[in-house]
Amino acid sequence: NADSVDQLISNLEHEEIMKPWENSTRANAAFVILTRNSELDALRKTMQQLEERFNNKFNYPYVFLNDEEFTLEFRELTASLTSAKTQYGIIPREHWSYPDWIDVDKADEARRRMGEQQIIYGDSLSYRHMCRFNSGFFYRHPLMEQYDYYWRVEPSVEFYCDIDYDPFLYMQENNKKYGWTISLLEFESTIPTLWETSRKFMKEHPQFIPENNLLRFVTEDKGKTYNLCHFWSNFEIADLNFLRSPEYSAYFDYLDQAGGFFYERWGDAPVHSIAVAMFLNKSEVHFFDDIGYRHDPFMHCPLDRNVQKKCHCNVDDNFGKFKI
Ligand code: GDP
Ligand code: MN
Repeated sequence: NADSVDQLISNLEHEEIMKPWENSTRANAAFVILTRNSELDALRKTMQQLEERFNNKFNYPYVFLNDEEFTLEFRELTASLTSAKTQYGIIPREHWSYPDWIDVDKADEARRRMGEQQIIYGDSLSYRHMCRFNSGFFYRHPLMEQYDYYWRVEPSVEFYCDIDYDPFLYMQENNKKYGWTISLLEFESTIPTLWETSRKFMKEHPQFIPENNLLRFVTEDKGKTYNLCHFWSNFEIADLNFLRSPEYSAYFDYLDQAGGFFYERWGDAPVHSIAVAMFLNKSEVHFFDDIGYRHDPFMHCPLDRNVQKKCHCNVDDNFGKFKI
């Protein structure tokens, strides 16, 4: 009868106007963007794509972090690109400076030497603070404490395809702890003793290494050497509680004590990747094949024709041409 049809229609309308973010099955998650004020324009382009391709439907909040105060211009011109909540945090000094056990002269000398050898970012101190911060501190920032999952974004990265589902919920519902889109090989000259230090850590803390680990993915010779394979960490969708776990915390502290963030130039990408290999099993990691993504000079463009229909990338330009 007319009444029940009426009811049916209003229910349908209600379904249609339900916004995804009003849905209680949303993950407790945020984008995290470490950036300088000077990268504002590159970041606006990135945010515009991220909103258009994903977040205007899901409305996940943004956390912007900086070692200096964000300018009013930065805040205004980022907040206005999204209807989601935006938060701006300054990094505590002790998360962006030498710990007291570091020999500063030795660190200066290492940068001078690595600069001479033309090692990428070899002479940069701020780059080292950045890598150390992304390895051991961003997930402990007060603005990040309330969240369980993060999606790392950098100024000038691009998102090529519609993302019609919620990758955070995917992680949560499938018990995934680390997700990536691009993997590649690290420059050995930036991490001469990282593997040796990690091996020592494993020897001293065998209780942290589960039997079904992923170490076979980072070594070809039964653990003697690191094969340099790593997840490219400028894109990460991952579980913050993995980074806050006792095993990851112990690993980061061990590396930090060894000093390689300053005496060498250890990147957060190999650090995260070796940690994933030590502590997680295969079911806990996820390759986001369907997320079209570029961070210069490499891109990942999904091969699947159905996904391609909603992309603006060319699969011939793909870095990872091979399906895992
Ligand atoms: P690359 O991707 O390894 O070439 O390094 P990037 O220059 O892209 O730096 C990685 C991330 O850290 C980017 O999101 C940068 O915006 C950020 N970043 C790097 N150095 C600094 C810095 O000194 N201060 C701040 N606030 N952010 C930085
Ligand atoms: Mn970058």
